Amino acid sequence: MSDTKKNLLGMDQGQLQALFESWGEKPYRATQLMKWLYHQRELDLDKMTNMSKKLRERMATETTIATPVVAERKVSKDGTRKWIMQLADGNQVETVLIPDGDRHTVCISSQVGCMLDCTFCSTGKQGFAGNLDAGDIVGQVWLVHNELLSEGNRGVTNVVFMGMGEPLLNFDAMLSAANLFLDDLAFGLSKRRVTVSTAGVVPGIYKLAEHTDVALAISLHAPNDALREQLVPINKKYNIAELMKACRHYLSGLGDKRSITIEYTLMDGVNDELEHARELATLLRPLRCKVNLIPFNPFPGAPFKRPNTHRVRAFQNYLVDQGFATMLRTTRGDDIDAACGQLVGQVADRTRRAERHRDRIAAREIA
Ligand code: SAH
Repeated sequence: MSDTKKNLLGMDQGQLQALFESWGEKPYRATQLMKWLYHQRELDLDKMTNMSKKLRERMATETTIATPVVAERKVSKDGTRKWIMQLADGNQVETVLIPDGDRHTVCISSQVGCMLDCTFCSTGKQGFAGNLDAGDIVGQVWLVHNELLSEGNRGVTNVVFMGMGEPLLNFDAMLSAANLFLDDLAFGLSKRRVTVSTAGVVPGIYKLAEHTDVALAISLHAPNDALREQLVPINKKYNIAELMKACRHYLSGLGDKRSITIEYTLMDGVNDELEHARELATLLRPLRCKVNLIPFNPFPGAPFKRPNTHRVRAFQNYLVDQGFATMLRTTRGDDIDAACGQLVGQVADRTRRAERHRDRIAAREIA
């Protein structure tokens, strides 16, 4: 994470061109390097023989090319794969591949832990230990893509920033990585297939609109401020009205056919009553959006339960009847703790939150 040498993996085309120009090299060196890194999947400078020996030596001295190191790899019975990725500083984050027909979606982490502490998310309970750099973020996709292609499979087709962390609070690294996911010289994915998901960092949404037009997902989880403040504490800073305004602004830059995804984790007896569905429909009416319902995934010490299928269907049906495209996100990979909200990695917590969470579980077990 904090290697003193700049990691070439993770630098986008503009950054690489600037680096080479600062060395007195032509900008097309960036193109050459990117083709090696992402098309040939070659990380060894010695193999990049269309660049002069002198240039390669300079790159070797002043920069590095590094992915995270795979510490563990698990495969779910439903085909979902999860990697525990070790970063240079010893922290670990998790990356998940969700195969679905010929679609290969990678769910990537952007931070070690998370600062936001949403009450229903196990990542938040781990506390926070820092940001990933762009190389760590891109490296996750690089490794998964390389594994898929080496198996003779189609490579990564979709990337979602829905693993550990809040991507908009690690803006610069997130943006360089997103640029590379879109760039034909790297992963060449369409902007609809790269999704940034946020718990509602409103200034980050405006900033995102200035720089890119990737897909945006909002983790909403409640239709009113009173409830959302309890579930998603950042709502105290940026309330629902401000969040909806930011969403409309982002949408205005996307063109008429595209929409925003609203994520809504259903928790039994908490936010899954029909009354909530009604309130949600009213709230979302003016927004071009699709709704993604996620039945709550349990983790140790979680104070919530997953609603039964009947309640989930009733909630979905109400929204569908109201004209909202409403998908039910099927639970994938929960046998290997790879489902939404179950990613924890190994976080050298700086916030002592993990400790407090363990204390709370212990207190509850004693009571
Ligand atoms: N911080 C960003 C990125 C994480 S995305 C964000 O909040 O959007 C992870 C998604 O899984 C979010 O929609 C999150 O709210 C949801 N999630 C978290 N914990 C969950 C759980 N226990 N069960 C189901 N979904 C959960």
